[in-house]
Amino acid sequence: MVRGADGPRPGPPRASAGAMASPGAALRSTAAALLDLVYPPRCAACGEPAEGGPFCELCAEAIEAVGPACPRCGEPGPATAPCGACLASPPAFLSVAAGGLYGGPLADAVQALKYGGRPAVARPLGRWLQAQVALPRGAAVTWVPLARRRRLQRGYDQAALLAGHLARAARGRLLRGALRRTRETPTQVGRSRAARARNVAGAFAASHAVAGLDLWLVDDVVTTGATADAAARALLDAGARTVRVVALARAE
Ligand SMILES: [Zn+2]
Ligand SMILES: [Zn+2]
Repeated sequence: MVRGADGPRPGPPRASAGAMASPGAALRSTAAALLDLVYPPRCAACGEPAEGGPFCELCAEAIEAVGPACPRCGEPGPATAPCGACLASPPAFLSVAAGGLYGGPLADAVQALKYGGRPAVARPLGRWLQAQVALPRGAAVTWVPLARRRRLQRGYDQAALLAGHLARAARGRLLRGALRRTRETPTQVGRSRAARARNVAGAFAASHAVAGLDLWLVDDVVTTGATADAAARALLDAGARTVRVVALARAE
């Protein structure tokens, strides 16, 4: 009876998006997390059995590839030259690689990982992401850390889990504690590009352990890249040689 743990198909697990809001939702997400441990692998998006990957066949087919995009920030568009925003103000990172476009099953998987209380999906998602973005063997991997308060509420940092499994799949090296938040920042959701940049500017500090490294910076979703940019700036300030961003999904 694996089926139905996340609600009847095709209902996405978004019902648990406000998971911590009600005891019922919290209980359901705990049940989902337990099922991830006890039963054969379930699709990270719909909860159906999924052998050999984070997604069942139907969901895997429905994931949209990023396609042509700005070579710098990954915004969908012509791939021949940086987009207007990158020309006007180049980001601190060199590039953004994403597993696919945010939406459909990929959005459901991100929701399951972040709000659905299913940290176990980070492992197959990390492997899947490596199959999409192909980090070089030995890559130095770190992540955009969650604000402390949010990490405590959630009980885990999804980007940290994802980075760990991605690094393992790439036979790379995970740098723990490379970045920390210097202050809490309100959510980026619903803000303009400029407001997002202002919101996170100077919100990160990096450890000097990153000096001289070519880094892969992991986050679950990249939208305008403002958060990744602020994090990358801190890493470069601490002496990192280059920073490239890797995300499960690129949102438009
Ligand atoms: Zn599925
Ligand atoms: Zn761009």
